[in-house]
Amino acid sequence: MPELPEVETVRRGLAPVLEGAAFSRVHLRRADLRKPFPVDFVQRLEGARIKRTGRRAKYLLIESHDDTLIWHLGMSGQVRIYPPGETPAPVGKHDHVQFDLSNGAVIVFTDPRRFGLMDLCPSEKVAEHPLIKDIGPEPLGNAFSGPVLAAALKGKKVAIKQAIMDSHVVAGVGNIYASESLFQAGLSPKRRAGTVQGARAEKLAGAIKSVLSAAIQAGGSTLKDHRTTDGELGYFQHSFAVYGRTGQACPGCDCDVLKTKGIQHLEQGGRSSYYCPRHQR
Ligand SMILES: [Zn+2]
Repeated sequence: MPELPEVETVRRGLAPVLEGAAFSRVHLRRADLRKPFPVDFVQRLEGARIKRTGRRAKYLLIESHDDTLIWHLGMSGQVRIYPPGETPAPVGKHDHVQFDLSNGAVIVFTDPRRFGLMDLCPSEKVAEHPLIKDIGPEPLGNAFSGPVLAAALKGKKVAIKQAIMDSHVVAGVGNIYASESLFQAGLSPKRRAGTVQGARAEKLAGAIKSVLSAAIQAGGSTLKDHRTTDGELGYFQHSFAVYGRTGQACPGCDCDVLKTKGIQHLEQGGRSSYYCPRHQR
């Protein structure tokens, strides 16, 4: 599933193509993805000029004067951009939505598993939309800090890994980057969330910011000419410190893997966690 850095990478690819252009035609090839499209989806978008391409957690927010398109890429959704003058590939079975823009560019959303979602909301009411209103602070924004994280975790008995994946605590930290952030902060994923206070919360908030920023930077470099923004492109497999690396030594670790068994795998709430028992407490 695309995580926040992948969605941000897609946003950065879309922004220069969308902003200032209008939707000249919207081709909707089915009535629903995860949820039905609004009945007046096509009418409300056609002719609308895009002011801003934003993001909240893992939702893309394509804002025009009247309405904002709230767009989630789902589990395996992919976005393709065809620049002006380039003929789009023949329509595929899973190409459910196509936006033709006034500048001649074409954007295609392909979603084989149909876990994606598109909704429309009056632009001035986006913050109150049911999908958006309860989301906690953006991890890369100024509103997220050690003290804010500590306050959100206070008294929580669940494991810290599960707590930071709760979007009320912090927005859009998914499974992969939760493991990576806890490694960088030196905290065990099993630690009780409420014990992460003071300096530990400071360290963890900093780790979340730095892990996500590094992933966004890596994603930016995969975009190249902004022609293909692929929801799955950005998994940056090579830069993971612990994720998916069971049995290996963690970066900078001098321990004997034969004795310590290296990075451990753990199931938490049905999701895989990876951690170094020696460096994470
Ligand atoms: Zn280690």
